[in-house]
Amino acid sequence: MPDSAPAGGLDAFIAGLPKAELHVHHVGSASPRIVAELAARHPDSAVPADPAALADYFSFRDFAHFIDVYLSVVDLIRDAEDVRLLTFEVARDMARQNVRYAELTVTPYSSTRRGIPDRDFMAAIEDARKAAEAELGVTLRWCFDIPGEAGLASAEETLRLAVDLRPEGLVSFGLGGPEIGVPRPQFKPYFDRARAAGLHSVPHAGETTGPETIWDALRELGAERIGHGTSAVRDPRLLDHLAEHRIPLEVCPTSNIATRAVATLDEHPIRQMVEAGVLVTVNSDDPPMFGTDLNTEYAVAARLLELDHLGVAGLAKNAVEASFLDAPGKARLAAEIDAYAAAWH
Ligand SMILES: [Zn+2]
Repeated sequence: MPDSAPAGGLDAFIAGLPKAELHVHHVGSASPRIVAELAARHPDSAVPADPAALADYFSFRDFAHFIDVYLSVVDLIRDAEDVRLLTFEVARDMARQNVRYAELTVTPYSSTRRGIPDRDFMAAIEDARKAAEAELGVTLRWCFDIPGEAGLASAEETLRLAVDLRPEGLVSFGLGGPEIGVPRPQFKPYFDRARAAGLHSVPHAGETTGPETIWDALRELGAERIGHGTSAVRDPRLLDHLAEHRIPLEVCPTSNIATRAVATLDEHPIRQMVEAGVLVTVNSDDPPMFGTDLNTEYAVAARLLELDHLGVAGLAKNAVEASFLDAPGKARLAAEIDAYAAAWH
């Protein structure tokens, strides 16, 4: 039932709602504020350190410009202190939105390949994770993802970092980068070994390619959740499979528009996914780079799904259910969401 309260009422509800986020990238979460801090540490960089100039730098003209900006931020992550600063400050931006738990997708290969020693990298993210939990009340877990465009050498290296140097906060193994021209089945041996080591499988699939890629992710990579899965709606049998096996989709509406995976928000298939009985979670992907944040994504989803505040609380609970929190952690966060929703007027 649509909420009869004014839209501002729902936005305020979303802002205070305790939330979990399952699909958000580490470097892709660097807000202009964080980039300014990193740029100030590296004055030789082309990235402006002045926040006003950065706002302009961050207004994307097109997707190619997004890639340029993304890579220039990657270029600012040069030592372990940059990694620690980025990670802790990303958690600070999450805390401001009442994100209580996040599985952050980290691509360690981009940093170790650039010369940050692997053990220093792990120590930096773990130090930030513990500080975020103690000082900000945000619980972070890691998904280490293979940058698919970097080929099988990057898969081998990501697996080595995940299994041999496994940080305490690591829960899952992912696969990102372009899907076109990067078939999922070639990564099967790496996912097999990661899963044998107890890591969950959460590849991106079906964002820019059809449902066959999602089937590949399920059959070849043992996917337990699907990153995006936008094209699943083109295959009713696949939707049934996802619903029946309770395999969640990590839906990122604004990202799908920014990358042109979907033409307009009104054409976003999230409603078909929900109506098919699929466990849908709402996420922000690379939020500052797509001009969004998790609260905005919840507002978008509420509009597309015509949800009232209890419906929005239900979405937040979907994310808790789909997370890799342990059972007591899930129960605690779900109870917090219920208590917040029950107290809302
Ligand atoms: Zn992503």
